[in-house]
Amino acid sequence: MTKQAYLTLDDSPTRHTDNLTDWLLEKNIPAVLFCIGSSYKDLHLDCEGIDQNSDPIRRAIEKGFVIGNHTLTHRRANELSYDEIIREIEHTEKMIEDLYKEAGHERHHKLMRFPHLDRGCGGWVVDYDAAGIHKKNLEILFGKGLNITLDPPSDEQVEKKHNVQDYLKREGYSVKAYKGVTFDWYQETEMAQAADSLYTFSTSDWMMNPDFEPYRKDWKYQSLEALKQKIDDDPWLHSEESVNIVLAHDHNNMFDVTTSLIDHMQKQNIEFLEIS
Ligand SMILES: [Zn+2]
Repeated sequence: MTKQAYLTLDDSPTRHTDNLTDWLLEKNIPAVLFCIGSSYKDLHLDCEGIDQNSDPIRRAIEKGFVIGNHTLTHRRANELSYDEIIREIEHTEKMIEDLYKEAGHERHHKLMRFPHLDRGCGGWVVDYDAAGIHKKNLEILFGKGLNITLDPPSDEQVEKKHNVQDYLKREGYSVKAYKGVTFDWYQETEMAQAADSLYTFSTSDWMMNPDFEPYRKDWKYQSLEALKQKIDDDPWLHSEESVNIVLAHDHNNMFDVTTSLIDHMQKQNIEFLEIS
């Protein structure tokens, strides 16, 4: 029986990126770092971007980690026009390309993850049928009370999302790097054919970020121990011959939480796979 997963970390670079990549390297855990191009403030977060703090990302490339695109300013795609979304992606892409060149490493994968998982349609991550059949699944995937809306998107938003997907495919973005993902909903919806990276399990580590305290009010998992229990209780993560895509974060003030959760997964015999 094997339990395998691809580890993805959002919101680099931070003050902790060097420590985090050193820690992962020591544990022999491969990962994708989805990076933000420009410094931004969002809710209570104050993150550095590649333009402020590129060294840890160049060093991450040198250490063998894969760098993905998490847009320029981490804004929600449903609030941006098509042209604005493309600009957000292209500016960051150029920075990532330059860092690969500086590091002298060939780039094998173009990976992209939308901030807040907003792919142009707000909280409606995937297409849905007229009966809204995927709504229940959205809640399964993300849990209730998160910062997403479950309002159905407008026709224009859906069209924008499809146009962005077409753009990403033309530019060579793909999820082929994540091989054999077993999560049912991933296979049954557009997630497996998407050009951008989605995920099948969230560590929800960001909920333990001290800056997010006000948002934890109605949240089911109020402690690190509870988040470890969430890992233990997840049926997909622990099913036989499973392959998942796991989401965690590189945030300031979160190094201990994020590494504890990753460590806990390893202790549960979840093997982290190299993006090949
Ligand atoms: Zn993010």
